[in-house]
Amino acid sequence: MTRDEILHAFDRMRVWQRGDQRAVHKPLLVLFALARVGAGNTAAIDWNEAEPRLKELLDEFGPDGSANSRHYPFWHLQTDGLWQLEGPANILGRPPSATPTLTELRDNHVHGGFPPALREALQRDPQLVATIAQRIVDAHFPESIRSEVLAAVGLSTDLSDSASMQDSARRRDPAFREKVLLAYQYRCSVCGHDLRLGRQTIGLEAAHIKWFQAQGPDIVPNGMALCSLHHKVFDLGAFTVLTDTYQIAFSQHLHGSDEAAGRMLAYHGASLILPQSRDYLPQPEFLHWHRKWVFKEPSRDNEASQRAVPP
Ligand SMILES: [Zn+2]
Repeated sequence: MTRDEILHAFDRMRVWQRGDQRAVHKPLLVLFALARVGAGNTAAIDWNEAEPRLKELLDEFGPDGSANSRHYPFWHLQTDGLWQLEGPANILGRPPSATPTLTELRDNHVHGGFPPALREALQRDPQLVATIAQRIVDAHFPESIRSEVLAAVGLSTDLSDSASMQDSARRRDPAFREKVLLAYQYRCSVCGHDLRLGRQTIGLEAAHIKWFQAQGPDIVPNGMALCSLHHKVFDLGAFTVLTDTYQIAFSQHLHGSDEAAGRMLAYHGASLILPQSRDYLPQPEFLHWHRKWVFKEPSRDNEASQRAVPP
């Protein structure tokens, strides 16, 4: 396979995205498999070895409950021509829609990996591994958490920028950041962070509520001004914003030392610092999307909402 053929084959995987749903199973499996090849480990992997890692990755970076179907990509990636299984004929011979159960994959030690021609091409060209990984992570995850995703699968996080998918079919609105920051008067809508050096804002970002990667539009009602830390934890699903009250709700999965978690959780139940005009308020459809596809359920209970927010 030539380099162009390989890139094209992986780019076609963009159709994994169905509407605005987040389909992360195949991207995470491919990233996981690329990391193995990058580390010189080209043998097909036993499902029993892959399963705990895929479960962790989906728990961490997938929508709530997505780890329940952790075995789907191990089977369905075959139809993209990018995956090959080894195992008993009574399983491998099934039609594509007849996904084996977790138990069948485990008990039969079904192995999976890139097809030999692809594996050899990737081994010959380590830069190609980095290029494909960068394209996949760009297509499926917001910038704020890409380095976390790459580190979690075991890929280097300083992949070359030139590999980045700048030729995306959809162009981003360069004014989005400025419009969102102005709407929120240049401060984090959770903690009020508004540090500046001269006229330069520091560590303040315009977050998409519904991700750009999931067709979220570049409009102010789909944006929130967030400091770097709150942006990252918002994109990881540690908190969400309730549609009726604009209250901040944290996940039960967020924890840490008293000081670190306490500083974060002090905002649980607090109201978002709202934008200057009602026209800029986060739209319910985008908040619903975030809650469904990003937030790690369940939310902490409401008791904490009585807590005072630090000055
Ligand atoms: Zn903040």
